[in-house]
Amino acid sequence: MQTRFANRFNCLIGPQIELYVFLLISRKFAIISSMSDPEYKPAPQSIPNQIGAEIPYDGCPLCAGKESQLVQEANCGQHPLWQPGLPTQLRWLCCNACSHVFRSAYFSPAAMKLLFSRAHACQVVGVEIDQQRAQWADTVHRVNRLMPEPVWNGRAAVWVDIGCGNGGLVFTSAEFGFQAIGIDMRQAAVEQITALGFNAIVGDIAEMMVTDPVDVISMADVLEHVPYPREALKRVFGSLKPEGVIVVSCPNYDCASWRATSKAGTNPYWGEIEHFHNFSRASLMRLLAQEGFMPVDYQVSRRYKSCMEITAVRTDSCE
Ligand SMILES: [Zn+2]
Repeated sequence: MQTRFANRFNCLIGPQIELYVFLLISRKFAIISSMSDPEYKPAPQSIPNQIGAEIPYDGCPLCAGKESQLVQEANCGQHPLWQPGLPTQLRWLCCNACSHVFRSAYFSPAAMKLLFSRAHACQVVGVEIDQQRAQWADTVHRVNRLMPEPVWNGRAAVWVDIGCGNGGLVFTSAEFGFQAIGIDMRQAAVEQITALGFNAIVGDIAEMMVTDPVDVISMADVLEHVPYPREALKRVFGSLKPEGVIVVSCPNYDCASWRATSKAGTNPYWGEIEHFHNFSRASLMRLLAQEGFMPVDYQVSRRYKSCMEITAVRTDSCE
């Protein structure tokens, strides 16, 4: 088990607004921010023969259904983030009860530590920063139109970006006038974002508690990485103001490019070592609705192959 300790962040994000975010922070990870880092040395094989790397789901992570069928097996040994100690084979299952597609197991804390000890080139702060700015502008613009009035009119609106990665969405939402704060498990990313004068803290959604509900929470390419997405969405629901906005993006296994690449045997997502779930537009919208969010917009994400982006508003019809 990892040693955990409570920490309290008092993030001043604007002259009059204080956002208190409480996180239980995992022990700091050794971070190598670039895979091309000449100092990089492979981590020791701390999980020999993969023992303990994976925790099998004992049922569907969305509905707890016990019956499922194997839909795909894929090799992940060539994945850029693979390291000794991680599995080389992924098994994807489909729940008989709710049709959710999920991996047979999720990673143990030790395996997650190995995985987060390295980062994709695109996860490095500053990479293609102008392209990132342009790509995120549409997203921020759509969210801004859902606010009671545009944030550039001076309204105080707080935007928390969970899994902020290279900081692109934090930077762009701040540029539009949101009081933006990023949360990410990679300490190097957080340090690089704060070095540019923006707000970011190290943490994990599973440990996030926001005491003052916020206006917007984004999970861009995050939900498919979370072992139990329903629990993550419940946490988001409790952290948002009534009629607050959630933005979720992830691959869409039901779109044409997913089907075509799967048929050709070139779909990268079956061997994506960081993902535990595959959603379709319908399954993601259904999950959001079940957790108290009304989807109000669907878009094709321009950041990754086969990806979608859904904007939804918290409703108070269910708690
Ligand atoms: Zn299910």
